[in-house]
Amino acid sequence: MKYISTRGQAPELSFEEAMLTGLARDGGLYVPSEIPTLSHDEIAGFAGLPYEEVAFRVMWPYVSGSFSAEEFKGIIARAYAGFGHAALAPLKQLDSNHFLLELFHGPTLAFKDFAMQLIGQLFQTALKRRGDSVTIVGATSGDTGSAAIEAFRGLDAVNVFIMYPHGRVSEVQRRQMTTPVEANVHALAVDGDFDDCQAAVKDMFNDFDFRDSVHLAGVNSINFARVLAQVVYYFTSAVALGAPHRRVSFTVPTGNFGDIFAGFIARQMGLPIEQLVVATNQNDILHRCLSGEGYFKGDTIPSISPSMDIQVSSNFERALFYAYDQDGSAVAQLMDELKSGGGFNVSQGAMQALSEVYTSGRASEAETSATIKSELAASGELLCPHGAVGVKVAQEHLKPPVPMVTLATAHPAKFPAAVEDACGVHPPLPPRMADLYERPERVTRIANDLGAIEDHIRKHSVH
Ligand SMILES: *Cc1c(COP(=O)(O)O)cnc(C)c1O
Repeated sequence: MKYISTRGQAPELSFEEAMLTGLARDGGLYVPSEIPTLSHDEIAGFAGLPYEEVAFRVMWPYVSGSFSAEEFKGIIARAYAGFGHAALAPLKQLDSNHFLLELFHGPTLAFKDFAMQLIGQLFQTALKRRGDSVTIVGATSGDTGSAAIEAFRGLDAVNVFIMYPHGRVSEVQRRQMTTPVEANVHALAVDGDFDDCQAAVKDMFNDFDFRDSVHLAGVNSINFARVLAQVVYYFTSAVALGAPHRRVSFTVPTGNFGDIFAGFIARQMGLPIEQLVVATNQNDILHRCLSGEGYFKGDTIPSISPSMDIQVSSNFERALFYAYDQDGSAVAQLMDELKSGGGFNVSQGAMQALSEVYTSGRASEAETSATIKSELAASGELLCPHGAVGVKVAQEHLKPPVPMVTLATAHPAKFPAAVEDACGVHPPLPPRMADLYERPERVTRIANDLGAIEDHIRKHSVH
């Protein structure tokens, strides 16, 4: 399997090369040159299998040129050994036709552990074989950073620098980034918002001298290996509810469009997905765009679901690539318009293609809080604010008898203040993390200035 850039001007790479590179040199994102399909019988055969076995069967066609089957099985086993639930991604029933996919049983209590734990093991295996080392730089709105630090802590072939917007992540998220003691992981609190952090990462990748001098690698949601890891739970959950004999819908709380794009891949691979619903909070650029209003940046407004406080959604470029029939130059032009003019209109043909795959909805702050409260009363389920955005939007898209699965992307204890304000219940941390508030923190506050950030990283990365 070869990987190509969404902007059509970068060299084709293997899975391993695309994974270690992150962003393509033409500024685009890597996607597989073709999406493999699974037959009806192959999907039916997933019924009753352990998560790890489905993970192997779904991901194998994408990675087979880069790892042996034995290596890849070991990688999957190690990646998911630290999860706190035997099913890894259990389904709960909310209503006769509505299910919650709990993706928060990993070490940092959010769905990003599914991808990041796998990437940690993939990187370690590939770098060990090459005798190489890398510097991982990431921007986080909260959950990516802690998941990356947790996945790479103590791996001496990898330096990790995670930038987060100072004062805009929850205390649990911050502590998960600032309390690990390993010398190879570094938290940077940037005076700016998430989009500033994400722009700094992009600029570092486009600074080829810097990129080469520190062996820069990216594990942000632009990394295709991360998208791939997330494809698996669409299959496990849909099959548990009767697929492929029956169609299933999904609602996905969305920020950077990585998780929902994994749903698109699952659909292209042959999983019978009826609706793929994009759920946004008040930062609703994706909902506006999918409603036909064009893709125009607004100001990011802090919300109680901070991991979705995003105005430039990096993985949406991948959705556009397919909507524009894999025309890299059309995508490159849209991205130029976004950079120079703050937005672009989507062509009629591409809008048509998008609307065949995605629907969308938005939840206000008040609706999100009200949903936390009403869902607790209706089913006893305590939602985090991101999951609540999903549940609210899903309720507007139920089409019985097609089951709806809403992705619960984080544990409520990651956002205790918002949850308690909404319903009066304080969500406790699971026992394995109970001492998080007592551990000492280590963090560098830094200006939103590319030169200062690059200097800091040069000085503190070890090769
Ligand atoms: C990252 C994150 C999201 C958004 O996921 P994307 O893949 O960026 O769309 C939603 N909820 C939580 C809790 C997250 O951490």
